[in-house]
Amino acid sequence: MSTDFYRDGEPVADAKAPAGPISERWEKRRFSGRLVNPANRRKLRVIVVGTGLAGASAAATLGELGYRVANYCFQDSSRRAHSIAAQGGINAAKNYRNDGDSVHRLFYDTVKGGDFRSRESNVHRLAEVSTEIIDQCVAQGVPFAREYGGLLDNRSFGGAQVSRTFYARGQTGQQLLLGAYQALQRQVAAGTVDLHTRHEMLELVIVDGKARGIVVRDLVTGEIATELADAVVLATGGYGNVYFLSTNAMGCNVTAGWRAHRKGAYFANPCYTQIHPTCIPQSGEHQSKLTLMSESLRNDGRVWVPKKKGDDRHPADIPEDERDYYLERRYPAFGNLVPRDIASRAAKVVCDEGHGVGPGGLGVYLDFAAAIERLGRKAVEAKYGNLFDMYERITGENPYERPMRIYPAVHYTMGGLWVDYDLSSNIPGLFVTGEANFSDHGANRLGASALMQGLSDGYFVLPNTISDYLADGPYEKVEETHEDVVAARKAVDDRIAFFLNNDGDRTVDSFHRELGKIMWEYCGMERTDEGLRKAIGLIRSLKDEFWRRVKVTGKNEQLNQELEKAGRVADFLELGELMCIDALHRTESCGGHFRAESQTEDGEAKRDDDNFSYVAAWEFGEDGPVLHKEALEFEYVKPTQRSYK
Ligand SMILES: Cc1cc2nc3c(=O)[nH]c(=O)nc-3n(C[C@H](O)[C@H](O)[C@H](O)COP(=O)(O)OP(=O)(O)OC[C@H]3O[C@@H](n4cnc5c(N)ncnc54)[C@H](O)[C@@H]3O)c2cc1C
Repeated sequence: MSTDFYRDGEPVADAKAPAGPISERWEKRRFSGRLVNPANRRKLRVIVVGTGLAGASAAATLGELGYRVANYCFQDSSRRAHSIAAQGGINAAKNYRNDGDSVHRLFYDTVKGGDFRSRESNVHRLAEVSTEIIDQCVAQGVPFAREYGGLLDNRSFGGAQVSRTFYARGQTGQQLLLGAYQALQRQVAAGTVDLHTRHEMLELVIVDGKARGIVVRDLVTGEIATELADAVVLATGGYGNVYFLSTNAMGCNVTAGWRAHRKGAYFANPCYTQIHPTCIPQSGEHQSKLTLMSESLRNDGRVWVPKKKGDDRHPADIPEDERDYYLERRYPAFGNLVPRDIASRAAKVVCDEGHGVGPGGLGVYLDFAAAIERLGRKAVEAKYGNLFDMYERITGENPYERPMRIYPAVHYTMGGLWVDYDLSSNIPGLFVTGEANFSDHGANRLGASALMQGLSDGYFVLPNTISDYLADGPYEKVEETHEDVVAARKAVDDRIAFFLNNDGDRTVDSFHRELGKIMWEYCGMERTDEGLRKAIGLIRSLKDEFWRRVKVTGKNEQLNQELEKAGRVADFLELGELMCIDALHRTESCGGHFRAESQTEDGEAKRDDDNFSYVAAWEFGEDGPVLHKEALEFEYVKPTQRSYK
């Protein structure tokens, strides 16, 4: 089928995952992939863009292996990558609790949690590697919480009935990132990794069909430079900020991935967005950032709304029998720990029906009274103290005394650049890891599995797969004067010159805010054919207006955040349109992608496996996107209607 918005292309396939029993595939691939001998590794250069968990772990490991690594990030310290914000934990199938966990169960939960829209081979590998990650991080000294007997402690996250989430209070991302940072700095000191902070990749260099380098801007001096290598790894994070308001760090953006997409890399499942159920509700129009309250809180917090519509009594004055613990009522088996997509939609439903609490009725309660009574305040404080403090600082309300108010917000993007089992994009030499790729999570990511995937990719998968590509290197040296390098640099210079010389009258932020509103309204928690068509029209005219009216102050040769944002918002505008086209073409509901036209009688997402059991890999085309389908096969977890009842 082709429509006025896109056309169909040839199917795409993942040619790298071996056949055979699923538990042997990763071992087989590792054995069949070619190695590079230690002496030759020193002759091979790899660029890693990103110093979050995915990037720092990859750069450190490749450095340790002896490759020559150039590592980039736009923050002032690699330690400030967005991964530092991760709160709740990281999954691993260790079965320390003896509660029935196993590699197979983690694999099963993740395939089901992703609503049968991920690859079985990838997910199984992730579950296998999960146990090695914990060992690696413990060896690095990451201070995971421990229980009385000295074993690492666990808690439960959504979509699982076992306790497999390892954590370091509410700062798991920070502690894991410090571990990866130490490993990275060791390589910096050893001279195998050149670390470049405050540099932004603005273009990918492709020579003879292979990824051979990047163009970067020094964010302090404005200097434009190129870095050339044998392979490029993008570990550049997610693109949730296309919605303007999200729980992501303000700097998160899609530019690295989008520049690669414009040069031929397929972008897969862009519309799969995770909307997290437990965020602090937006307090007003002035706001530019939303705050997550970790999913770990749903271990002990109970979610409820008043049964009576518009009930504005103090929550303590609402008696038990006038409260609707709607998750426990609708999903007795998983209760408050249903996966995020389900919990978010359920919150939307009760708020749409008029039961919401707080300003505008856009909130539900997350109540710790029962946990405090059961465990005592001290125990609750020990587990969640920093999260409670953060909540109080932002809202002025004390969650020990009054339930938290929470509401869903954009949090994570399951879509990203298409990669095969080796984490290679369709451009030879371009690899993509962490949140920046699309793999593993299908249409809904389970909590605590992003950190697992980022570290799995960086510490274990990529270092083993990239060698198969590098075994053919070193590739022919590319000079700075090569016409493709010169052209990539010129494209960057021209874009910067355009922004600085376009004497418009609208700020970059005003465009971003408007785009975000369109995306949230029409491509957010609920999507319809009519709404998505409208959104595509609105984004197209906003894009036209952007190029006519955008105003960027200052100059290139200085720290110029308006200029940085202009490039990022230009890319978000194009991405937003593709997300809506992807959401429009997928007329089924699955995971976080809820099409109002496709729901069961009791309002759950209704998949259409006959027509949509595929990854949508989009190619950039000047006259509109081209859709390449990768068929998904399920040999081990047969697709069923997901049930958490
Ligand atoms: C508030 C919050 C809490 C979370 N809690 C959890 C949790 O408890 N458990 C869990 O599993 N997941 C959690 N997540 C999700 C998880 O944190 C992220 O998915 C994960 O950290 C992403 O890691 P990454 O390395 O792929 O990307 P990031 O950490 O986002 O790193 C991206 C890197 O790329 C660099 N970069 C990007 N673009 C460019 C460019 N153009 N040029 C140069 N450098 C560039 C950045 O500077 C940065 O170094 C949470 C997310 C949020 C928002």
